[in-house]
Order: sequence, then C-alpha cells, then structure tokens
Amino acid sequence: MENKKGAVQCINDEILEKMSLQNRYNFLNNNLMSILKPKYFNFLRKAQKFFIRFEKKYNITHNEDLYEWIPEIGKEGLVTRVNKFSELDLNYEPYGMTAEFMRCLAVDFFDPQLIMGMGASVLALNPLMLYHEDVEVRLKALKELVTGQKIGCICITEPERGSDAVHMLTTCEENEDGSFILNGEKIYQTNGARADWAIVYAVSEKNNGNTMAQFLVDTTWDGWNAERINIPWTPRVYLGKETFTNLRVPPDYVLAKPGIGREHLFEGLNLERLGIVLANVAECWNAISHATIYANMRKQFDQEILKYQGVGFPLGEMWAKTMSLTLATLHICQIIDEKMEQFGTLPKNFNLALVATASQLKFQSAKLSERVCFGCADLMGGAGLCDNTLMSDLIGISRIGQVGGGTSQIQKYIMSLALRQLFKML
Ligand SMILES: Cc1cc2nc3c(=O)[nH]c(=O)nc-3n(C[C@H](O)[C@H](O)[C@H](O)COP(=O)(O)OP(=O)(O)OC[C@H]3O[C@@H](n4cnc5c(N)ncnc54)[C@H](O)[C@@H]3O)c2cc1C
Repeated sequence: MENKKGAVQCINDEILEKMSLQNRYNFLNNNLMSILKPKYFNFLRKAQKFFIRFEKKYNITHNEDLYEWIPEIGKEGLVTRVNKFSELDLNYEPYGMTAEFMRCLAVDFFDPQLIMGMGASVLALNPLMLYHEDVEVRLKALKELVTGQKIGCICITEPERGSDAVHMLTTCEENEDGSFILNGEKIYQTNGARADWAIVYAVSEKNNGNTMAQFLVDTTWDGWNAERINIPWTPRVYLGKETFTNLRVPPDYVLAKPGIGREHLFEGLNLERLGIVLANVAECWNAISHATIYANMRKQFDQEILKYQGVGFPLGEMWAKTMSLTLATLHICQIIDEKMEQFGTLPKNFNLALVATASQLKFQSAKLSERVCFGCADLMGGAGLCDNTLMSDLIGISRIGQVGGGTSQIQKYIMSLALRQLFKML
C-alpha cells in the first residue's frame, strides 16, 4: 500500500507494503477458505483480482471521486450480485445473497466509502428488480444502475420524519392521466446529490402510511432539486437534501400506487438492513487485517506488539466476534439463496420472520463494526489514527453504521415488537 493520501508518511515502508490490498485479501482468504463453498470463494478471488488491478492501473490514493469508478466496476459485474439479471441479458454467476456478501468483502477492502456509494444504488435498483413488470423505462433504469452507468438513491427520510418514516409528509397527488405530482422534502439520502435515478416514497394523505406510494424519478426532471449534505465521517460520499416542487411522475414510473407503497417500503428495508450487515462485517475484517499485519511487525520494547497480552488478546477477541458474525451472516445468506432457488421469491411468512433477523443482525453488526474498527485503530497507536491507511476511513464509516437503515434504538424497538408477537403465539 502506498501512503494513502500522499500525506506525511508515519508508518515505515516495510509495514505499509505488507498492508497492501493483496496481503489484506490473502489474510481474509486464509480465514474464509475452509468455510466457503468453492464457487463463492472463487468469485471472491476473482473480484479481488479486479480491484488489485484497478488499484494499480489508476494508482489509487483514495482521495478520488469514487463515483467516477462505478461505471468500470459495473462493467465487471461488481455493483451488485443480488440477482442473476437474466431479464437484462447479464446472467451473472454466481448471484444471490452469498455472492453479494463476497462482493461486499472485495469492495470494502479496496475502499470502504465506495461500498456505501454503490450500496445506495443497489437499494434503488432492488425495487426495480422486483417491480419492473417489463415496463421499458424501468428496465432501462434497472440496467443503468446494475451496470453502474448511472447512480441511484432511495428517498424515505424527511426533515421532520426520521425514525417515524411511515408518517410521511411528502405528498403525491394523482392526475386524471395516471401521473402523479409530488411535493415535499427528503433528507440524508445517500447519493442524493449525485443520483441519476431516485426511488421516492410519498403519501396521498399526510401522516397516513396506509396511503403510501412508490415512484421511480429521473432527477433531471423539473421539480427535483438536491443540495449536498456533508457527513464528515464519509467525506467522499454525496448525501442529499431534496426538495420536490410539483414534480410530475408519468404513469410508467409509478412502482406502487397509494396503499401499496408501505409494503414495498418494508420489503426494501429487509434487503437494505441485510446489505448494511454485509458492509459492517466487511469493515470488521478490513480493520482486523490491518491490525493483525501491523501488530505482527511493529516492535516496542524489542518485541512485536502482538506478543503483549494487552494487544494480542483484545485483537483475538475482536477476531472471534467477527468470525462468529460472519458465520451467522453466511448462514442467513445461504437460507435466502435456497428459498430463492426453491420458490423464485421469498415466501411471505419467511419475509416476515426476516424482519426480526435483519434487525438483530443489523444492530449487532453495526455495534461490532464501530467497536472493532476503533479497537483495531487503537491497538495500532498513531499508525491506526493517522491518514496513511484506510483505517481512518474505517473509523469514520463504522461510526455512522448505527444510524443509517434505522437507528439501533429502532432495531431494538422492532425486536421488542417481535418478542411480543412470539409471546402471543404461545
Ligand atoms: C450516513 C447516513 C445515510 C443515510 N442514508 C439514507 C438513505 O439513503 N435514504 C434515506 O431515506 N435515509 C437515509 N438516512 C436517514 C436515516 O435512515 C435516518 O437518519 C434515521 O432513520 C434516523 O432518523 P433521524 O436522523 O431523523 O433521527 P430521529 O428519528 O430524529 O432520531 C433521533 C434519536 O431519537 C431516537 N428515537 C427516535 N424514535 C425513537 C423511539 N421510538 N424509541 C427510542 N428511540 C427513538 C433515535 O434512535 C435517535 O437516537 C441516512 C442517514 C445517515 C446518517
């Protein structure tokens, strides 16, 4: 790894070189090779090779505009693997949640902020994948997002409605020709200020979630205005605050009419939360790979610092927790893949049970990522906190993981409701 930001070098050449992308991938692979099926392990390695070449080809310093990388990554089929996308003649192999997990691991090790930018595009394409109904404009948007030619965002949160997302204030009014007029404001949309396509939720009656609708919006249309919000922990990701002023959505772009949007929202939240879990686990592995290499090479008092219990033991503990979460995540990915293969879609009951599982894993993984990324940086001393490696990016991104996709309190709220349901079933 070159001195990441071209800034003042704090870590010696030998250690920096050892923390190369290739070596960190090798560390990950040695951890996973015995638990992954060959088709997924091979895909992981193929994706890794792409990013190693990409890093060399462009002499990446991680100061770049990450959005400019996405078209080339999309060409390689690495924006998403949630589906085969045979309707787009892409026919990805392997595909599904386990493949998506592998993709996230490869992307995160390359650049943790990139996973967030591409992740929001994936959130925007998921509803199109489920509800394109062969409508030409939807298929076009889907293809552009899957192949990374265009950027997507998803607009749920509003300035006055965050955790309480269902009681929206953004309105949609139907015209006689089946088009809709949107008015209102959204906030904190990942990619909002860079998106070409947006998935927008609105209600026909303010504060009434039962009247929620879902739309595909071309951000070049009149009535769409986005301002950039800066989240200092992820300075290269463009979040947005959007204002809709009489924004007209033609009938082909209405994905769910008022009344059906709420179901789409919750279905999307399961996938969103599981996607966040994959990113969180990848962040943990990335941090542990940095810290393991560093602690095995850095000497103080004439000993490698890993040999001190104060360093080696907490690192071992974070490794154990990360591996446990990886096994749990792989298990749920595998179950989803099996159900998809068997039924072609996720059965309703399973999707309902998945609400609690997604919340449990999202809550646990966000907390773990925050602890592990900071914990690893801490064990590396100044080298973990300076800007020479991706550790500074990992500390930043892991600190916002508990808020996006519903805060930790909201995940616990969902879990407590699920416990009530389980009690009622006795
Ligand atoms: C980096 C980032 C990316 C994001 N990306 C997107 C995106 O792409 N699209 C999108 O639509 N939104 C996005 N969001 C918005 C995110 O989903 C919201 O920030 C989140 O749901 C919380 O809403 P809020 O910020 O308004 O906080 P509030 O809802 O105002 O919450 C403030 C505090 O109150 C707590 N709280 C609220 N209600 C309860 C309750 N019932 N019980 C206990 N505690 C409660 C919360 O946990 C929190 O601690 C993103 C946010 C961030 C920070």
